[in-house]
Amino acid sequence: MAGDLHTHTHFSDGSCSPEELVAAAKKIGLHYLGITDHDTVDGVRHLYENGLYPGRGVNIIPGVELSANHPTRDIHIVGYNIDIYNEALLEMLDKIIEARWERFSQIINILQSKQYNIREADVLKVAGTSSSIGRAHIARALVKIGAFKSVRDAFDKMLGKGCPAYVPRYLPEVDEVIDVIHQAGGLAILAHPKLVGDDELVESLCPKMDGLEVYYPFHKPEETQHYFFLARKYNLLIAGGSDFHGAASRFVKELGDFTISDELAKKFFVAPAE
Ligand SMILES: [Zn+2]
Ligand SMILES: [Zn+2]
Repeated sequence: MAGDLHTHTHFSDGSCSPEELVAAAKKIGLHYLGITDHDTVDGVRHLYENGLYPGRGVNIIPGVELSANHPTRDIHIVGYNIDIYNEALLEMLDKIIEARWERFSQIINILQSKQYNIREADVLKVAGTSSSIGRAHIARALVKIGAFKSVRDAFDKMLGKGCPAYVPRYLPEVDEVIDVIHQAGGLAILAHPKLVGDDELVESLCPKMDGLEVYYPFHKPEETQHYFFLARKYNLLIAGGSDFHGAASRFVKELGDFTISDELAKKFFVAPAE
């Protein structure tokens, strides 16, 4: 059987509720499910506080995906087995979420100044329950009004780093992210190394990490092999996941389309206390 360590719910930019995600995981027989929303643990907390954790039938790994500061590259670090009530973690998440809302308004202003017929309310409608408002929501709203043909297209032409409507936001440093994950009792994993776009940078980050996301849908076989050897070289845990965002995903279509072995997944799981 198998596991998927990297998924998003509608508490960040995914389209499923945590319940739907867990139900889907059970239905297809996943043994391990990592829930790794961007900059929020609200999805995991929702499961905890509604008596849906432990998952009964699927081993849920509480996680979070944090972006770290870098002038030109996107560095995402996933924390696994974090204490979602840890004060230092929650403090950092608050600060990040606040910065996200600020940036959201700034981006909408830029888009309006460029004659895109989009209002904050349009994006909020798309974002629904999400507390972690982000560019993916804006991109979806732009696709909805026909301004771009896909989310990827909106990122490539308008919202991505270096594009006309790109606005930087507060991001913690790599060391701060790792430190806060450790303070919350978790493991820090460098996510989708290929998407960092700079293998030298990736290797320079390896000694700081607990693990590397070797298995990822966008990795070609030779890239997977490269990251596998890198993980071995730095004695890192080997992680992997689909980065499932729900139906209209830019990654995989269905949960279960991209999984890793139980052998790897179980290293990230700690059974919850009775
Ligand atoms: Zn990511
Ligand atoms: Zn992700």
